[in-house]
Amino acid sequence: MILKSHASLHWREQLKQAITQVDQLAERLTLDPQALAAQIHPQAQAGHFALKVPQAFVERMQPGRLDDPLLLQVLPLSAELETPEGYVPDPLQEQAFNPLPGLIHKYRSRVLLTITGACALHCRYCFRRHFPYSDNQPGGQQREAIVDYLQAHPEINEVILSGGDPLSSPDAHLARWMATLDAVPHIKRLRLHTRFPVAIPERIDDDLLAWVKSTRSQLVFVLHINHPQELDARLIERLQALRAAGVTLLNQSVLLKDINDSALVLAELSERLFDAGVLPYYLHLLDRVQGAAHFALSPTEIETLYQQLLSCLPGFLVPKLVREQPEQPSKTPLGWPFSTR
Ligand SMILES: *Cc1c(COP(=O)(O)O)cnc(C)c1O
Ligand code: SF4
Repeated sequence: MILKSHASLHWREQLKQAITQVDQLAERLTLDPQALAAQIHPQAQAGHFALKVPQAFVERMQPGRLDDPLLLQVLPLSAELETPEGYVPDPLQEQAFNPLPGLIHKYRSRVLLTITGACALHCRYCFRRHFPYSDNQPGGQQREAIVDYLQAHPEINEVILSGGDPLSSPDAHLARWMATLDAVPHIKRLRLHTRFPVAIPERIDDDLLAWVKSTRSQLVFVLHINHPQELDARLIERLQALRAAGVTLLNQSVLLKDINDSALVLAELSERLFDAGVLPYYLHLLDRVQGAAHFALSPTEIETLYQQLLSCLPGFLVPKLVREQPEQPSKTPLGWPFSTR
């Protein structure tokens, strides 16, 4: 097999060619197909949240290594079939804050708008892996209902496009949303939470930059990079184009066992992010979603790791350690005990 880069293909073509077969992944990474097959669960190649990873992401994996930190993020291990107590299909119970299809209004000043359920890759730890997206997406007529809702809530000054991955949507669709939201006077900021450019850097193309440059609101992209190996030259180049277009770039990570559970790895990630013009924002504790328990760390491991991280970095490169809790009015910060006395 010729190891040819897919960088010259349009992102939609790269997405179509994403790897979904374990054998194909084994071949690409020169792994023994039997050794790989022995590790994964029987439904790995079928169903709603099966193996899916674009070549551009696989190109950043180390050949021949079953323990590669990028491979472990996408490999459907049989450990997913374990069902320890406390791990549930919907850990965040967002339905209670779902006034309209596609809209989650949980925190006072900002709403989450999920415009698509699709992602460029399937991350095995994802808390939305069991989410019924098809029942919860705004169609054309709901655009108006959403605008009415925003008009009626002047306390909302920021709309967050989420998903799935909002950059799975065609640029024409995104441009329409941007124009719609720009027209609400009290919306100051539009934020996109996306892992798409990490999976396929060529998603940042001229069509995207055109709507980015046309918005009246301040634009923030929150990337989702978990390991320094994900930040290659190809991605950094595209991030620079986004920055040149005036976008503020932040990053969030999820703390994941055997992937980034080391202060050195996380410190290197922060350093490399900053080199690329991205500020670390959040380090999330794993959401307790069914199928992801094997990524969890113990409270003691987390405390030790975070204290080491604090000692490795300037304060502005330390991501806030947070947890998402169903009933709280914000993310819950951890590792910063209030001792003002
Ligand atoms: C995380 C989240 C936000 C954004 O929170 P920030 O702390 O502003 O990043 C907004 N709404 C919901 C429902 C969220 O889960
Ligand atoms: S890209 Fe984000 S929403 Fe999609 S599977 Fe990965 S973590 Fe989940």
